[in-house]
Amino acid sequence: GELKHDDLVNICELGQGNGGIVWKVRHKPTDKIMARKSIYLEVKPAVKNQIVRELKVLHQCNSPYIVGFYGTFAAEGQINICMEYMDGGSLDLILKKVMRIPEHILGKITVAVLRGLSYLRERHRIMHRDIKPSNILVNHQGEIKLCDFGVSAQLIDSTLQTFIGTRSYMSPERLEGANYGIMSDIWSLGLSLVEMALGRYPIPPPSTKDIDDLFKQDPNGNQPRPEGFGCYKVLAIFELMEWIVNEAPPSLSQTHFSPEFCDFIDRCLKKSTTERADLNTLLHHPFYKRYESESDNQDVASWIRQICKIDQYQINENNYRRCAT
Ligand code: ATP
Ligand code: MG
Repeated sequence: GELKHDDLVNICELGQGNGGIVWKVRHKPTDKIMARKSIYLEVKPAVKNQIVRELKVLHQCNSPYIVGFYGTFAAEGQINICMEYMDGGSLDLILKKVMRIPEHILGKITVAVLRGLSYLRERHRIMHRDIKPSNILVNHQGEIKLCDFGVSAQLIDSTLQTFIGTRSYMSPERLEGANYGIMSDIWSLGLSLVEMALGRYPIPPPSTKDIDDLFKQDPNGNQPRPEGFGCYKVLAIFELMEWIVNEAPPSLSQTHFSPEFCDFIDRCLKKSTTERADLNTLLHHPFYKRYESESDNQDVASWIRQICKIDQYQINENNYRRCAT
């Protein structure tokens, strides 16, 4: 049946973004745990209804690399999107718990994101538009999935004006107001991977000495980052966008990462779209190939469980219906 506001009970807040708040909720009729995103929009009811109609396309998005969708409805002036609850949270939250994400986990993340993007393009003819660590979610099974992609043209139009970020994952061409497409997602993936590899948003790029310092602190990268860690020079959002458009793109050094990973990043972070690698090229890149075998998600699963301290009790709580005994 249809999802209704009155059938959902809030359990706790999972996070907040621009114009949205995400709650962990229980769906009373089924006892299922879900994540509900509520977006507050000051638009006419007709526009809200159109957004809800357009979001229903999400029912057709079925892929192991896309967060599952339960339904959408408008209530109390908000648009609600109910989706699969991912118990490892998003990669920006993971990055607050560890110094940086190791290369072999980033390899698996790369495979999942590229397959998710390729699914959206092949089956739904859409690009993602908002690839960044907070829109890549993980769970204790080692699954890695994309959320918050642009399915509803009306929702994209209605939220455009409310951009108030402190960082940007947008490509140079998009920041310049030129036409942009899926190549822009590739840039965002590259920038997100560099951030997760270093443990620091890479604009402005860290100097060689900064990087040595970053890696000196903890060779295994298993310590949480101190508050303000790695923020040697914080740029205001406008300066930062100017940097992305005008300066050389960030890169990774072979001192700390494999040549294949460094090359993969270089190909994603070409400022010119004609030089940037496209999806198909990346799906054949040696870095992708090294992690593509689906056989073991176990390394990712045990890493996530350890970082997020997920035990069997929580897994049961979140995944099985509670039985009245
Ligand atoms: P922005 O609004 O700038 O895009 P954001 O992606 O962090 O930032 P939201 O999309 O509103 O903002 O999400 C807020 C937080 O909620 C996310 O950072 C993530 O940690 C959490 N979250 C979102 N969806 C889920 C989900 N399905 N399962 C678990 N946690 C989720
Ligand atoms: Mg998000």
